[in-house]
Amino acid sequence: MSTLQDRFGRRFSYLRLSVTDVCNFRCEYCLPNGYQGGGNDNRYGFLALDEIRRLVIAFTELGTWKVRLTGGEPSVRKDFPEIVRTLNAIPGVQRLAMTTNAYRLARDAGTLREAGIDAINISLDALDAERFERITGDRRFDNVMQGIEAALSAGFSSVKINAVLLRGLNDDQLPVFMEFVRDHPVSVRFIELMRTGTNADYFAQRHVGGAMVREMLDENGWTARERGPGDGPAVEYLHPDYRGTIGLIAPYAPGFCDSCNRLRVTARGGLRLCLFGHGAADLRPLLQHDHQREELKACIVDSLFAKTPGHRLHEGDFGHTPHLAMTGG
Ligand code: SF4
Repeated sequence: MSTLQDRFGRRFSYLRLSVTDVCNFRCEYCLPNGYQGGGNDNRYGFLALDEIRRLVIAFTELGTWKVRLTGGEPSVRKDFPEIVRTLNAIPGVQRLAMTTNAYRLARDAGTLREAGIDAINISLDALDAERFERITGDRRFDNVMQGIEAALSAGFSSVKINAVLLRGLNDDQLPVFMEFVRDHPVSVRFIELMRTGTNADYFAQRHVGGAMVREMLDENGWTARERGPGDGPAVEYLHPDYRGTIGLIAPYAPGFCDSCNRLRVTARGGLRLCLFGHGAADLRPLLQHDHQREELKACIVDSLFAKTPGHRLHEGDFGHTPHLAMTGG
């Protein structure tokens, strides 16, 4: 059991680690103009392999056992398979997951599974090429669909699809996604669009609440499943006639933060206590030598004291989150 506990008794068994801010898609709700930095990782000072290894060892010694690798798009890092192998070799890492836009998953699924990825989440907001391009600014819809098939064949313990709900763009696609999970053993999770520091107009135009998903599921005889240990924020729904499941991530729902179990570290070593929090403790100076481990662990534990009971999105406080690519969602 994680010893990482906040003032509200919540335990943090789950680390979301961003390994790069770079992404090669232009999702209009995240990076509508694409990643402005460009170039290779080291130039932008993203965490190096040894820094990542020291960070994750420290977290596991504090009881964190699930690690999710995110970005930007994590697989744009040339050393990504090496990062996976290194983390997979850390005894305390019991579940190693990643979130990807799957642009080359059809090629990499086997390598990533072999390197140690257990569970894979794929960002996909529409099941047709035209809308896919409209939302992501990219034409590799077929690659992504082949990536999903490759992931299902590669033997990951779970394959999930994350679809951001967007009014007028994909909110009519729920039945299409539902049909997809009839014969695909994947979990499609609909995510409410979240307000960030830079998307006020877009949010006003595109936000749609999760209630429409719940209504559709109720009308079609789906039932909610209990959350398991280490599970993320999604409420999952099952149906006996479907191989897959449907999930809903509704940050605006009451009590959403009561079961928060995750901490985030940015690609430059900033400890984010909340996706919509303010500021980040800079862990990087403590990632330079193995002998700094106890100091690093003490810094993480001390920082946790500042974690708030929940986000304050309803009060119009979006924290220091200009866009979700900077924290890996
Ligand atoms: S919004 Fe913040 S407190 Fe709430 S669940 Fe997410 S990370 Fe936890």
